[in-house]
Amino acid sequence: MDLPVDEWKSYVFQKWSLLPKSIQVTISTAETLSDIFLHSSLLLQPEDEMFLKNLSRGYLVEKDPNAPLFYREEGNKKFQQKDYMGATVLYSKGISHSRPHTADISLCYGNRSAALFHLGQYEMCLKDIMRAQMHGYPERLQPKMLLRKAECLVALGRPQEASQTIRDLERSFAAGPTLAGAQFQILQRNLCRLKMKAEEKETLTETFPAALTKALEDMDVKEENGQIPNASSSVSLCTDPLRGRYLVATKDILPGELLVKEDAFVSVLHPGERPPLRLPESEWDTRVTNGDLYCHRCLVHTLAPVPCGGCSYAKYCSQDCMQQAWGLYHSVECSLGGLLLTLGVFCHIALRSTLLARPEDASRVVRKLCGEIRNKDPCSPESETWVQALTCDLGGEREERRKTREPPIPGCDLNGKYESNYNAVFHLLPHTENQSPEHRFLCALSVSALCRQLEAASCSEPTVARPAVLGSEVAVWGAAMLKHMLQLRCNAQAITTIQHTGSEENSVTNSRQVRLATGLFPVVSLLNHSCSPNTSVSFVSTVATVRASQQIGRGEEILHCYGPHRSRMGAAERRQKLRSQYFFDCSCPACRDEEHSAAAGPRWEAFCCTRCGALLQGDDVLTCGSMSCTESVSRGHLVSRLQDLQQQVGMAQKLLRNGKPERAIQLLSGCRRDAKSFLSGEHSLVGQMEDGLAQAYAASGDWQKSAAHLQKSLQVVEVQHGPSSVEMGHELFKLAQLFFNGFAIPEALNTIRKAEEVLMVHFGPWNDEIQELQKMKSCLLDLPPIPGGPSMQDPKVFFQQLTTLP
Ligand SMILES: [Zn+2]
Ligand SMILES: [Zn+2]
Ligand SMILES: [Zn+2]
Ligand SMILES: [Zn+2]
Repeated sequence: MDLPVDEWKSYVFQKWSLLPKSIQVTISTAETLSDIFLHSSLLLQPEDEMFLKNLSRGYLVEKDPNAPLFYREEGNKKFQQKDYMGATVLYSKGISHSRPHTADISLCYGNRSAALFHLGQYEMCLKDIMRAQMHGYPERLQPKMLLRKAECLVALGRPQEASQTIRDLERSFAAGPTLAGAQFQILQRNLCRLKMKAEEKETLTETFPAALTKALEDMDVKEENGQIPNASSSVSLCTDPLRGRYLVATKDILPGELLVKEDAFVSVLHPGERPPLRLPESEWDTRVTNGDLYCHRCLVHTLAPVPCGGCSYAKYCSQDCMQQAWGLYHSVECSLGGLLLTLGVFCHIALRSTLLARPEDASRVVRKLCGEIRNKDPCSPESETWVQALTCDLGGEREERRKTREPPIPGCDLNGKYESNYNAVFHLLPHTENQSPEHRFLCALSVSALCRQLEAASCSEPTVARPAVLGSEVAVWGAAMLKHMLQLRCNAQAITTIQHTGSEENSVTNSRQVRLATGLFPVVSLLNHSCSPNTSVSFVSTVATVRASQQIGRGEEILHCYGPHRSRMGAAERRQKLRSQYFFDCSCPACRDEEHSAAAGPRWEAFCCTRCGALLQGDDVLTCGSMSCTESVSRGHLVSRLQDLQQQVGMAQKLLRNGKPERAIQLLSGCRRDAKSFLSGEHSLVGQMEDGLAQAYAASGDWQKSAAHLQKSLQVVEVQHGPSSVEMGHELFKLAQLFFNGFAIPEALNTIRKAEEVLMVHFGPWNDEIQELQKMKSCLLDLPPIPGGPSMQDPKVFFQQLTTLP
């Protein structure tokens, strides 16, 4: 997904293999990125572009005029089955394929407002009603919608506005019924009921506010760093030849302290497992992907997106985000159709980065690249006119650079300040020499194709602005994009979110981390890797925060994990991954420890003796660790037993998802007996079994048994991930939910406290789970109740309401 689709990849690799040796050598040995780009782009033939165009046609990203009716009808089916969530998503798809100010779009918005109403999303419902009207909602259907509007206003405690809407409705009735008799009567009855409700609710308080903006405000670093405005004053930027640029603690840091808070310089939403495909005649995709549920600009989860006016792909949480995205980059990207999906997220980020560059940052880059292209110093007289053409209005700055040297730390400005801007992005390392010639060729050819398509678009449609920031020279712009594409391999940061799964009746939620988008964060990129890092990174919208996950002493390096974490991967696997993706050999303390310790492997992967239960040791043949036991067994045998068991656990999880907890309990209990005979009690699979049992018992309402199993799962998680890990935080959160549901008040309070402590370190106070924990606590302690919250008598009911909060 990051790289171009496989068909294009193999096409380009084949093209490369068929190139004359001399040309391969020229490109492989090219000294600068500009040269790689120029040589490669000369090789891009019309038939290559045609091949790519055909691939791009496989995606349906433009507006299909026949789709809205289809999606509306499919949505109506779901609506009738009372699947309002499903209906909402399908109406959204209909909206994304509709042109503005058509009957299609107004009807889809109107229907979506009804689905949102049933989901209790009154604010969103009101917005959709407004949009439906803005796009010309049919007069004859107006009364029904006005009634819905009034209902929302009542529910939201805005009685004055509700009364006004009711008066409007009455007036429209008085003007003469536009509806059939029966419908008219139903409407009038509803109207009477509503009038009474409006009067009752005259004194209702405000609704619970959305925590997001507040969360972002409260996340500010304590004391800003003079050198790196996105970091706290507890860290400073250093550089040495071995480690490159890195951050160290300037004072003792406590767990949970916020060290970096940085908005992505650029981010691109992942299209999801399967991006919108073009299906055969009169068929449209009804699957839901991330692209349907998250804002393409700010990445906020949204049930009621507004689409781009020009394509069916880009969708936003609000009009505001749509306009911002259009102004910043989407006006250029919109016309590219499926090409960006074909070329992959990295290529998309490369393009968007150049579009986001401020002119002053871009001009520096242009100067640098011009110098490269001429392979001469940009300030030498020969290239002067050429440079001047590109940076005509920047003569003063050029003069300035002649006098001052480049700042000592790459990416900093002339005053030594390191900001999250294009200049810093440009100085992230591309590791060009480490990447294979084929890969470089793939990137260069993809970028060339993108440049050609954009040139064509800007010729045929002069209103579509070309990225002005990099001047009119394609060579410069292409070289910059190529550099970004190569940089992303080591510098791309996955933007993740925690998704909660779990059915309505099973109120113990499971959470999993999912990748939402990929972005570039110049400050976060300064952190070096460790397989057992001392920080934790999390995201709200496009903002990354880095917090200390443990105590960090003054002078110690601030480290985060690029992916291969010691609790999830063995040392050999980590080393291999880090070398192939990031081109370095890890020598973090975890790796050094494991090098010296015996190759027994971690406890969460350990086998134990069938006869005496002691841990087994060895490679191909394992022998019992106990002196008094002579048992030995082949690893292959144990691994196949393990795989067997994994399969059964998978089946049990499926049973759970399909609402068959009793059968899951049966299956898992058998697995547990089997596991006892050859797996260590702290094996991660044992943890999964206990977790599954906990869920199954919770689903069948046995809180005590559920809690007992969850506590065992917690022990395994603690061994594998550590007592203050994110994973531990999520498990403690689940346990707190269970105790809460089971009325076990002291246990619940105790677990809530522990969960809060752990989650606080990783996420700060505005995390969703922490907010829920606090609501649970205030309910248990009978503190001032939450507005509109129920009384203490029935925590279960209260809890279910909590979990359905937006
Ligand atoms: Zn947004
Ligand atoms: Zn668009
Ligand atoms: Zn390591
Ligand atoms: Zn033994």
